[in-house]
Amino acid sequence: MTHAFQPVLERIAQEIGALADRGRPADYIPALAAVDPGAFGMAVAELDGTVHGVGEWRRPFSAQSLTKVFTLALVLAEEGDALWEHVGREPSGNPFNSLVQLEYENGIPRNPFINAGALVVTDRLHRLTGDASGRLLRFLREESGDDRLGSDRDVAASEAEHGDRNAALAHFMASYGNITTPVPVLLREYFRQCAIEASCADLAVATGFLARHGLRADGSRLLSRSRAKQVNAVMLTCGTYDAAGEFAHRVGLPGKSGVGGGIVAVVPGTCTLCVWSPGLDARGNSVAGVAALDRFTTLTGLSVF
Ligand code: GLN
Repeated sequence: MTHAFQPVLERIAQEIGALADRGRPADYIPALAAVDPGAFGMAVAELDGTVHGVGEWRRPFSAQSLTKVFTLALVLAEEGDALWEHVGREPSGNPFNSLVQLEYENGIPRNPFINAGALVVTDRLHRLTGDASGRLLRFLREESGDDRLGSDRDVAASEAEHGDRNAALAHFMASYGNITTPVPVLLREYFRQCAIEASCADLAVATGFLARHGLRADGSRLLSRSRAKQVNAVMLTCGTYDAAGEFAHRVGLPGKSGVGGGIVAVVPGTCTLCVWSPGLDARGNSVAGVAALDRFTTLTGLSVF
């Protein structure tokens, strides 16, 4: 079935323009606070990489936690189920940077998409490759076809300067032996990963392997069909933190948000999406981004349900 995506995107952009409350950009990473909260872009990538977009869909923004999808896929591709001994796959029901469940669960984070879980995944990737952020960047360049993708030094430095919470999470998990990369090295890699800048077009295209049931842009296999399904499932249940139920209710797709205001979403077998608008709600999800995806699935009838 083919879909006329462009008119749908134009209509969504118009509706989003009328949204009264757009939320506020993240301010706990000062370098992110400066972004215009009114910015909006959205892209849809078809399975063959054809991409449609509206608004600022070619403007790079701070990918932040969207990168957690790709590091998870890379680690699962390399070490398979062994990863699940180090991180769970249950929604946390708590904020993305929460510490509270770690002590009860012996330093094993609830899922790979909260910060604690992402630190574990980056630790695994760094052990496997010796260069976690470099490996991730190479993968994103290859999948998006955009060689200019890079990590923003100022954002990474800003995160490091205000990184006490992530440092606490990493040290706490290291005390249980669930992180073995030296914490300063791990944090450097994690902040470089979060500070990657990419556009909606880049990220929608790079997420394509999840809609192609594990196949990369060049047709080679990154994940088995079953593992691709599992990543999508974890995105659906955990990708938007303590708002994952609300996101599933409104959007009905596997999705992953980041505090830069981006959200990626997957319609398995059909397309991938990335939407960006830096104003966030109290749970760290883009207000206009969720609204746009809500409208997309309503207008097209595409969802996993
Ligand atoms: N770099 C951010 C942090 O670690 C990522 C969080 C996010 O995007 N939700 O706090």
